[in-house]
Amino acid sequence: MRIAVGMISHETNTFSPIPTTLESFAEERVGVLNGDEVIETMTGRKSGIGGFIEVGQQQGWTMVGTVAAGATPSANVDASAYTELKTRMLNRLKSEGPFDGVLLHLHGAMLAENAPDAEGDLCQAVREVIGPDVPLFVELDLHGNITPNFCQAVDAVFAYNTNPHIDAWERGVETAEHLAKLLNGEIARPTVSISKPPMLPPTINMRTAEGPMQRILARGWEWEKRPEILDVSVFGGFPYADFDLAGTAILVTSTDRAAGEECAKDVGGFAWEIREEFLKRIAPVEQAVQQALEIVDQSPGKPVSLADVADNPGGGGSGDTPELLRELVKRGASGAVACVWDPETVEKAQQIGLGNSGAFRIGGKATDAYGAPVEVEGTVGHLSDGHFVGEGPVVRGQPVNCGPTARIDVGDLKIVVTSIRHAANDQGYFRVAGVEPQDQPLLMIKSRGHFRADFEPISHSIIEVDAPGAANPTLDRYTFNNVRRPIWPLDPDTTWTP
Ligand SMILES: [Zn+2]
Repeated sequence: MRIAVGMISHETNTFSPIPTTLESFAEERVGVLNGDEVIETMTGRKSGIGGFIEVGQQQGWTMVGTVAAGATPSANVDASAYTELKTRMLNRLKSEGPFDGVLLHLHGAMLAENAPDAEGDLCQAVREVIGPDVPLFVELDLHGNITPNFCQAVDAVFAYNTNPHIDAWERGVETAEHLAKLLNGEIARPTVSISKPPMLPPTINMRTAEGPMQRILARGWEWEKRPEILDVSVFGGFPYADFDLAGTAILVTSTDRAAGEECAKDVGGFAWEIREEFLKRIAPVEQAVQQALEIVDQSPGKPVSLADVADNPGGGGSGDTPELLRELVKRGASGAVACVWDPETVEKAQQIGLGNSGAFRIGGKATDAYGAPVEVEGTVGHLSDGHFVGEGPVVRGQPVNCGPTARIDVGDLKIVVTSIRHAANDQGYFRVAGVEPQDQPLLMIKSRGHFRADFEPISHSIIEVDAPGAANPTLDRYTFNNVRRPIWPLDPDTTWTP
């Protein structure tokens, strides 16, 4: 059996000030992998493709790499970058085919300038090359904005079950194992059914350990007890995408179309019923910092973590919005911050030199829309090349490259500044700048939710902050021109019957 494998992954935030070019993909953890490099590099990795390969080895498949590329969330993928990656994938499928099956790891919320429904466009193009008879199985992120056009092109879909996402490898294994069952004649060829309630919930309350996502997943798992329902994938959706079909979707992969449709309708209806649970009020900057400092005063021991959710680079935030940092500096807080994306400040720190002091303007450089740089007198506390290997559950075993990294110490506040933009989803983002996060009274973390997997166990408490940024949970602060209307919660009176 010859199985083609590939990945083109991006979560597009159309409100992000950061452009997405081919270089954005190239500077990521593993860069852009082409052809055989995909298999060589990804074998043994705890990633989606690593899971595909592991099953392929057990099955004795010949695994053929196409292209593997992923970039940190940012604005619309530029047309040339999307076309280039898509063409590389299609060319490999043509030159190395025919195949017995295709396994792709995609995000689901990629939006290219020349293909707003990028995964739909990509999978339709893959389908054209491989023909109608070759199974195309796809692993996706549960933040995908999934379309009927995409569902038509694929045979089976397996979305992450966890948020923070700690099951990319497990879902990769599950995707490939189902392909093996089909190829070994143990199951009939599946189809994918979709339910798409008119809802665009913010991502702030999409954790899977509790709350509405947990309840919707549980509803799906009841259905999965039936043998014809292979998988129920629950997509909360990604709301920072001014895209017609953004929002929640339920995808059901089944060997019985009618049962799949019934299941999608039921689970989609349930998601709609409990939609209000996705909304959450969080504290504005001054109030959040005040609350954090009070807890620090009362209960020394574990750090209090402030999550700068609205500037989550993992959701398209620039990673350099200044308002929360400004307040910490103003209040003379003790603790550490990870990580502010600001190559200019890193360069200045290198010029000034380790142990020396100077004037810095930190953050606020990607756009002036979310606040001006924070002006401080600081000491260069640490300089490094920004490389480390993740140890927490989200980045486990993966090499991370922050680019040249500096730590600016302002009083007792240690500010980690990187040259490459990252959400601080691992304690390594502090340690790379010589900070042991557990020893800090207070942490400020630029991330929405994935940091929880590694920071919840070491934190006294976590406070989510309502600050300016490209990923704020209050959606009516953004102007949507393309999302279908009416849609909840932008139009609170929206009605729908599944
Ligand atoms: Zn996600």
